[in-house]
This record gives sequence, C-alpha cells and structure tokens, in this order.
Amino acid sequence: MVEKTLFEKIIDREIPAEIVYEDDLCLAFNDISPQAPCHILIIPKKPVSRLAESTDKDKELLGHLLLRAKEIADNLGFSDEDQGFRIVINNGKNGGETVPHLHVHILAGRPLLWPPG
Ligand code: AMP
Repeated sequence: MVEKTLFEKIIDREIPAEIVYEDDLCLAFNDISPQAPCHILIIPKKPVSRLAESTDKDKELLGHLLLRAKEIADNLGFSDEDQGFRIVINNGKNGGETVPHLHVHILAGRPLLWPPG
C-alpha cells in the first residue's frame, strides 16, 4: 500500500493541525512554520500531488481552492487594498515544494517582498 502523505494524514486526523476551514472538497489549516502573521494552507481532499499533475478534470477543484482561499483571506480582513495577501503554489524541487500533495499557501499580515528568494 502506498504510504499516505503528511497532508493526507492531516485530512484523516492522524496528525493534528489547527484547522480553520473544511468542506467536502478541501481542508485549510495553519502552517506549522508560519512565514507571515497569517500563513494558512488550503489543500484538496483528493490526492493531487502537485499543480503539474493536475488535469482538466481538476478545473472545478482548482477554482474551488482559489475561491475558498480568497474567502478565508476576506474573513480575516485581508481583502482591503491597504491590507492584501499572497497566494503561492510551490511546484517541484526548484519551486520549493516539500510536501507532495497540492497545497495553496495564503500569506498575509505583513508586507511581502517581490521577487521571492
Ligand atoms: P511547500 O514547501 O510549498 O511544499 O509547503 C509545505 C508547507 O507545509 C510548509 O510551509 C511547512 O511549514 C508546512 N507544514 C509541514 N508540516 C506541517 C504540519 N504538520 N502542519 C502544518 N503545516 C505543515
């Protein structure tokens, strides 16, 4: 049997996480090593390894993740233009991906630099 990823274990409640949102398709929880005052990960319950492995069949799921991410940021008060937030999806080794289960980072609460390191 294929070993579950860390995020599948969080979905299955085998590993604890500070869950901030859940529905049939996705789960959102605080990042364990926050890079900003607000750092939330939103992940699909379907085990898609990374964006590069997604297909046209995942169109609705990908849209869902972005729309829920926007709502979470909005509910926390980061939607105003003078606040703001950043959405990040790391893909593969050079992209900085460390967990092979698609995840969308929501970062907010401080000015974020560009370009990223
Ligand atoms: P990435 O580097 O894009 O693959 O992001 C993986 C993220 O998962 C990192 O920001 C980690 O801090 C975060 N992370 C790793 N383990 C946990 C955990 N047990 N609970 C919450 N976040 C985690």
